[in-house]
Amino acid sequence: QEKDYQMMIRTRNPGGFIPAQLYLTLDRLASEYGNETLRVTTRQGFQLHGILKKNLKATISAIVRNLGSTLGACGDLNRNVMAPPAPFKNRPEYGLAWDYADRIADLLTPQSGAYYEIWLDGEKAISGEEDPEVKAARQRNGNGTLFKDKEEPIYGEHYMPRKFKTCVTVPGDNSVDLYSQDLSVVLVSNDQGQLQGFNILAGGGLARTHNKEETFPRLADEIGYVDKADIYDLVKAIVATQRDYGDRHDRRHARLKYLLHDWGVEKFRSTVEGYFGKPLQPYQPLPEWRYEDYLGWQEQGDGRLFLGLWVQNGRIANYGDWKLRDALRTIIETYNLPMRLTPHQNLLIYDIDPSHRSAINQILREAGVQSLEGLDSLKRLSMACPALPTCGLAIAESERAIPDILTRIRKLLIRVGLQKEEFVIRMTGCPNGCARPYIAELGFVGRAPNVYQMWLGADPNQTRLAQVYRDRVAADELEAVLEPLFVYFKQDRKPGERFGDFCDRIGMEGLQQFSDRYDPS
Ligand code: SF4
Repeated sequence: QEKDYQMMIRTRNPGGFIPAQLYLTLDRLASEYGNETLRVTTRQGFQLHGILKKNLKATISAIVRNLGSTLGACGDLNRNVMAPPAPFKNRPEYGLAWDYADRIADLLTPQSGAYYEIWLDGEKAISGEEDPEVKAARQRNGNGTLFKDKEEPIYGEHYMPRKFKTCVTVPGDNSVDLYSQDLSVVLVSNDQGQLQGFNILAGGGLARTHNKEETFPRLADEIGYVDKADIYDLVKAIVATQRDYGDRHDRRHARLKYLLHDWGVEKFRSTVEGYFGKPLQPYQPLPEWRYEDYLGWQEQGDGRLFLGLWVQNGRIANYGDWKLRDALRTIIETYNLPMRLTPHQNLLIYDIDPSHRSAINQILREAGVQSLEGLDSLKRLSMACPALPTCGLAIAESERAIPDILTRIRKLLIRVGLQKEEFVIRMTGCPNGCARPYIAELGFVGRAPNVYQMWLGADPNQTRLAQVYRDRVAADELEAVLEPLFVYFKQDRKPGERFGDFCDRIGMEGLQQFSDRYDPS
């Protein structure tokens, strides 16, 4: 008898878009086949955990028939394309970012029909009598051809050397952590707000392996600018460069970031230009990047409202008196509202009629869902990956450990007189870094059970990498390690200086020296 293999299913939702029908389907599937929870990922998709192998086909088929897809959410190809989730209708650049995220996702969708043959209705697909629902799903997800013998136009026979991550954003909005992506596309408009072209960054990526110095997190480089009409050719040129020159012998060295590191920007740019057929233009000046999370009630600019809901670690569930999952189901069912998942594992419900605001608040209150006013900013800014027990790569706790760790850090801050301080804390159960801890002001990376590598010094807007402060910190010595740092920060910070900026200015050695001299009495 076959073992009860259980799987995680991840959805593909460019820009985090979840129509009401899809949300309600996923919610139902979480009960029918999953573990009664939905998890928002850091790439704006959903994960369903605990799906038994025998239920995979029913689950994926239901997702695809209800306006969703899982195609390309995992594997060595372009992953879910990210975009700022804010539904601002009076700022056209936001709508354009969604459109381009959709189109780039479609452009880089594999054209093989195998996905639909395997998960939907293979026989009909093979005989050519395609189910109209399947046909609509393929078109929605940019999958233009159905049959296996059609040539794969971008990925060829061997796909990419490794996963490939793309985002689209607007100037100043770093909700997408653009420096962590293989390819980042930034809209550039003229003074009248008309889209002219795109700035291009490439070569970001965070995953590394403990004790392997040749693996490291890296921020993306500024590559250049292209006119609006050229964006798809340029995206294809960058993908082709990585496809043809990315390392296919060593998976630990296969991401685009290593190509950029080994070649440098000049060689990379000129190779891309070879595929593109003309030179790239110089990168255009942009305003500073800002962390944005869009939580709370906000006007969306067309008379309607959106509501950004904080979801601790992205986990939508019912636990005791806290019934976020029930509340969301009621809200989406009653008002038929779309949703955007955010890159910080939260969600925005939008297109809300202002007259429904108080009823929605009431549903949330009755479900015990905390309002933003009472939320500790450390929690609001934090992220943790799933790790144990659902991720096979986890070597330490993350999602289950971080609530207690945040509470302890807040207590410590109060004790040293920094009660109102806030900073970005991220935690992962292994060095893969799914919750992007290497660009957090304080990052914890699983090193061994109950032991974390501690990273410090990224900036609050995720434009600078953190550095390793301690290789191994046991969970129970957290206060002892952090207290000297917080005391030093309180004594020597510049006016308004954030914790990450302070740690970077002092440097890891300086922090360590202070810590060595520190007398807690
Ligand atoms: Fe799993 Fe590691 Fe990713 Fe966490 S960071 S979800 S432990 S692979």
